Amino acid sequence: MTSALLTSWGRYPRYAQTPHGNTWRGDLHARLIQVTKAHGCTLPFGNGRSYGDSCLSASNHVLYMRSLDRFIQADWTTGVITAEAGVSLDEVLRVAIPNGWFLPVTPGTKYVTLGGAVANDVHGKNHHMRGTFGGHVRRFGLARSDTPALICSPEQNAELYTATIGGLGLTGILEWVELQLMPIRSSLIETIHIRFNSLDEFFALSAELDPAHEYAVAWIDCLAKADSVGRGVYIVGDHAGNGRLEYYNEHGWSLPVTPPLSLINRGSLRLFNTLYYRAHKPGRNRSCISYEPFFYPLDRILNWNRIYGPHGFQQYQCAIPENDSARAIAELLTVISREHQGSFLAVLKRFGHKESPGLLSFPLPGVTLALDFPEQGETTAKLFEKLDAIVRTVAGRLYPAKDAHMLGVDFRTAYPAWERLEVLRDPALTSHFWQRVTA
Ligand SMILES: Cc1cc2nc3c(=O)[nH]c(=O)nc-3n(C[C@H](O)[C@H](O)[C@H](O)COP(=O)(O)OP(=O)(O)OC[C@H]3O[C@@H](n4cnc5c(N)ncnc54)[C@H](O)[C@@H]3O)c2cc1C
Repeated sequence: MTSALLTSWGRYPRYAQTPHGNTWRGDLHARLIQVTKAHGCTLPFGNGRSYGDSCLSASNHVLYMRSLDRFIQADWTTGVITAEAGVSLDEVLRVAIPNGWFLPVTPGTKYVTLGGAVANDVHGKNHHMRGTFGGHVRRFGLARSDTPALICSPEQNAELYTATIGGLGLTGILEWVELQLMPIRSSLIETIHIRFNSLDEFFALSAELDPAHEYAVAWIDCLAKADSVGRGVYIVGDHAGNGRLEYYNEHGWSLPVTPPLSLINRGSLRLFNTLYYRAHKPGRNRSCISYEPFFYPLDRILNWNRIYGPHGFQQYQCAIPENDSARAIAELLTVISREHQGSFLAVLKRFGHKESPGLLSFPLPGVTLALDFPEQGETTAKLFEKLDAIVRTVAGRLYPAKDAHMLGVDFRTAYPAWERLEVLRDPALTSHFWQRVTA
């Protein structure tokens, strides 16, 4: 159990969180009441892989969930597992892969807890095939301050089930989660990398190849200018039909200290982007690699968020409805390039049409663009104002899991079901994010 103060992944905004440990899931109701009595309110905290302030309690006192990390049940004939909410996706993979099962949906880091994955209804590179994480959650246990423990499923306490998926940890504490896994024959991924020169090319590739592949995503060189705006690398992947079923057992390395200045600047970004783009030869390049570098390349450096220095960074992730996606993404990239504020992690991906079960889930049919920016006060705020204006015009929305700046009015317009979530919210649970956007 950690005793150090906790931050979110972007290390911005800085509201250091005091963790309150938990050992037994049966004690969660009592812990919730105890911490709330002492500090006014609290919030469950998974592994802090959310970037902004949605995982930060308004009282700066959180219930630390990572220590609830036991598996409860697994049926390897059906691929249904039940585990405590603090179990990480990496721990699920460790037991599931050798038995021929994989996560049906995984975000770009395996260091996320089951509770965090449900509370943000996370998406992965296969949204166009399988929708969001919540769509594979059969049931969960929920502790609230105002009732005895509940079991929630599409049939039982159905309203709390839909509100808790994507419910930002506000409807109660997930005690355990029952998840349907996806069968695989190999832990290897067959990939194709294709370099493209424009957004038009990206959209053509995505229309042609997304429907034929389980996973699809693109990296964008967001410092490219003029004719090159929108160039990047489009990547598709599928689980190999046969091969080994092997859990990837190596752990990444750590940055020992936070550098005094951000290592991400215009020069390092331009170099990285150009090298990465040129590292991919023209044409369709096939390879077969372990699932680890395919899904989790960033996990090789355990605390890579420190490279942004003491001020931290913000991620900007928006979803743009289908009809406006080409035009709006071009506008967003042009603004970013013009302001010389490129990001070295710029990810573009098409969302599919599978409806997610969550009341406040982020994905919508269209595309999503995600970019990281060093936190630079006014400069970042001014850039985000311009990006927000574009997203607003096309009725797009921002992802609360990544957000530290969204205006309340934009949140309430983009997520009209927020009022229902407010009614269902456990009165003991509030985040800085929720205070900011519902005030
Ligand atoms: C490198 C990287 C890549 C990422 N890629 C993606 C991606 O591809 N797709 C995507 O969707 N997201 C992505 N994310 C975001 C990440 O998946 C989510 O923010 C996730 O919810 C973090 O989970 P966590 O366990 O760290 O929870 P935290 O960040 O600690 O908390 C997240 C939310 O879950 C709530 N919560 C945590 N535990 C519980 C519980 N037991 N009961 C109730 N609520 C709980 C918290 O209150 C909070 O609201 C990425 C993050 C990183 C750092």
